[in-house]
Amino acid sequence: MNNKNSTKDINSLLIGLTAGFVLLGVTLFVFRKQIKQGAKDIVRYVFTADQERFLKELHPSVVKDFRSFIKDVDNKLGYLVRINSGYRSFKKQQEMVDSGNYPVIAKSGYSSHNFGMALDISLINKKNANIISQNSPISEWKKTGVVNLARSKYGMRWGGDGLDGISGDPVHFDMMKKYNINKLRELTLKQYGSIENAKGNRVNLA
Ligand SMILES: [Zn+2]
Repeated sequence: MNNKNSTKDINSLLIGLTAGFVLLGVTLFVFRKQIKQGAKDIVRYVFTADQERFLKELHPSVVKDFRSFIKDVDNKLGYLVRINSGYRSFKKQQEMVDSGNYPVIAKSGYSSHNFGMALDISLINKKNANIISQNSPISEWKKTGVVNLARSKYGMRWGGDGLDGISGDPVHFDMMKKYNINKLRELTLKQYGSIENAKGNRVNLA
């Protein structure tokens, strides 16, 4: 390789690099809003991957509120949220009822989980790693401030209050104050035809 050629090589390398950086800069600039929003939407979890899946399976109309709720619990109240259950299809709910393993469970199409409107969570105290879960006393749940936050800021219902004939379910938070479950069920069955095919979490509310 002679001198002239290597200069040429370096020049084209520099041009390539410059073009690359310019392109990257333009891309970042064009998508700056989305990138900023993306960073804001990132929620901290203890076990990340499956947690994000729970959020994505929620009904699109409530994802934003649940995400924001989880971030508030983390940043303002000092607890990390661990999601243990979210969306359950009509079919899954039917299977659970049929199994007989759940003495107190809503019929298929009668649970807020069937529409992706609910999460069952536990809390991890960031200071002392204490876990607040299904067996923790109601008073303990209330003391965290999570119940109050869910109600006042997000208009959620709390399972610790006893909902739809199911009592003592403090891990449960849902959005069913804003939606009518009979209407949701009707719409879902109309749009999907059967329990077998029903995707309540994707039902068109319009
Ligand atoms: Zn629940």
